[in-house]
This record gives sequence, C-alpha cells and structure tokens, in this order.
Amino acid sequence: MIPMVDLKQQYLDLKEEIDNGLLAGLEETKFILGPNVRAFEEECAEYLGVAHTVGVASGTEALHLALIAAGIEEGDEVITTAFTFIATAEAIRYVGATPVFVDIDPHTFNMDLKQTEEAITERTRAILPVHIFGQPVDMTTVLSLAERHDLRVIEDCAQSFGAHIGGTQTGSFGLAGCYSFFPSKNLGGYGDGGLVSTNSAGLAEHLRALRNHGSWKQYHHSEIGFNSRLDELQAIILRVKLKRIDNYNENRRRVAHRYSAALAEIPGITPPHEDGIGHHVYHQYTLLAENRDTIQQALRDQGIASAIYYPIPLHNQEVFVDACRGLPLPVSERISQQCLSLPIFPELKDSQVDRIIDVIGKVVNG
Ligand SMILES: *Cc1c(COP(=O)(O)O)cnc(C)c1O
Repeated sequence: MIPMVDLKQQYLDLKEEIDNGLLAGLEETKFILGPNVRAFEEECAEYLGVAHTVGVASGTEALHLALIAAGIEEGDEVITTAFTFIATAEAIRYVGATPVFVDIDPHTFNMDLKQTEEAITERTRAILPVHIFGQPVDMTTVLSLAERHDLRVIEDCAQSFGAHIGGTQTGSFGLAGCYSFFPSKNLGGYGDGGLVSTNSAGLAEHLRALRNHGSWKQYHHSEIGFNSRLDELQAIILRVKLKRIDNYNENRRRVAHRYSAALAEIPGITPPHEDGIGHHVYHQYTLLAENRDTIQQALRDQGIASAIYYPIPLHNQEVFVDACRGLPLPVSERISQQCLSLPIFPELKDSQVDRIIDVIGKVVNG
C-alpha cells in the first residue's frame, strides 16, 4: 500500500524531539498564546523574510482574518482562481465580498493573469492568488496589476510554504500571505493551524486583536473579533518541522523530478509543468491524462493511492453555481476532468516512485 502522504513515517523520524517538546509543553501549561507560539511566529518571520507573522487557528482563518484586516467588506469583489480548495472562496464570502472566479493557465494551473486584469471592475478591491500545488504565481505581474488598479493582494500560501521566486518567499509579496498547517501540507501540524505573514506593523497588530476576541489590550474590546489562535502544542510540533522544511521540500522535488523524467516518455501523460518563474515545492504532483480514470483504477488495483484535485472547479460548485451561472471557464473544466495527483511526500522512496511509474506505463502501453 502506498498512501498519498505518510505522516507516520515522518513522526517516527522526529518522535524523540516532538515527544519531549510536547511533554515539556504540558509541564509548562502555557496553553494559550504561550512561548512556543511566540517563538514559532518569530522563526517563521525570519524564514519567510517578513517583518511579522501571526499564528491563527487554520489556513481558512488566516484568509478570513487577513481579508478583514485588509478592509475587504460587503459589496467588494475579490478576484481569485476557480481551481482551488473551497476555503479560498469561503473566506471571501465570510467578509460579505463576492469571489470573482477566473480561469487558469493550462500548464501551471495557476490563475490566468490576463483574465484577472479583464475581470477588474470598479468594485474590485483585491486579488487573491493561490500558489496552487506549490508553484508560485508570477507575483511581479500580480503586483504591477494591483498597483495600476489600486488593489490589495492577499496570497493563499496554504500549499506553498517554502516556495519562492528568486529567494523571495511566497506570502511576502502582497499585503498578507496566508498559510495552513493542516497535517498534510508541506509544513503540517498534528491538527489545525494557520499563519498570516505581513510587512505591515499595523496589519499585524490588527490581526493579533482579531484572533483574540478583538482585544488590543486585555479585557478591552474595540471590535468584534474571533477565537482563532494557533495552539501552543501545535506550535511545539511546527517548530520541530520548520527547521527541516527546506529538506522536506527538496525531497518533494526529488520525487517530482523522478516522476516527470519517466512519465514524460509515456504517451498521453502530461507531467506537471515548471514555468521557471519560481521554485516549485510540489505540495501535489498533478499530471494530466485523458484516460485518467483508467489509470486511477489501475493504481487502486495495485494498492497505490491517488487523488483528484480538484474534481469540480469552484464556479461549478453547488454553493456558487447560481452566482456564477453561465460562466464558462473551459480550462479549469477540462483540467478537472484530466488531473490526477500521485503520492508525494518527503519520505517516499525511489523504489516506490518507480513502482508507481511502472503501473502507469503498463496501463497506458497495454
Ligand atoms: C488547505 C487549504 C486551505 C485551508 O487551510 P485549512 O488549514 O485547512 O483551513 C486554503 N486554501 C488552500 C489552497 C488550501 O489548500
């Protein structure tokens, strides 16, 4: 059996450090916004090359609170991609704004920036690019668009921790970067968690209040906030893994490049495309194949997991279809029919990758 991700193997490799850290945290009993959350925020700011980070309860909450702090509200439009996880668009709706979905580039699966410009109206307040599957969006173009039209940029970095463009980390280009520490993400905790990065001291201060009941000073509340803090025990685990994130991402790239070298030779399979703009950290390894379902069945028969990210683009989801009626986004629709994500995680062995390639080669070549 080869799973999509093997969290157990990574835990066993880190067991002593994590177990000792958690036991010390239990003894310390500073469970809410304790010393490890603070230390993790500092270590993340350093790693990401930003002035501030604010730990929150999840990636979804990172997006939600960042949109509030950016002043996005009812009546505003936020342009984003149709080819992403629902949370990206949910957060836009939480603040009463309207997600405006654009199509994607057929090679990188990232939002089409020409269509993004065409989608700008007088109600547009922000662009929300998603660095999908770990490949950075062309942020130079996004920033110049945003500047010309006076728009905020909030980056969804849930899949791109450690991805960068020429050494500048995703999440440090826009007003805010939003990260998820869902267990299967490149930097994953053992439960939910998230983080917002920003270079704005004012935004960071606002986010610290928003995550903690709108309290700028204890028991003083100037606005309605949330209970949306990063958990101290998660911070202990995340600190252990943050030290190793570059190594984890390099191993994801090793797996991806091994897949791609072999799969490029198999007719009918299009391996994922690196556009060379940024450093791809392969949260997912997603290929295209017209006979995708046959390949998935063959893998399943051999005890190999695979997944379809994403089977339904957001403009066609039941919850959004009425608002988006008539919107054709043909690239997203085609990709959702042809995409197949293969197992990828830092500990995946070359021999396992070769076995997966072998099964795919056999089903395609008959
Ligand atoms: C995982 C994910 C989120 C949400 O993160 P959670 O921590 O699960 O709330 C948001 N956007 C994208 C693109 C994601 O992959």
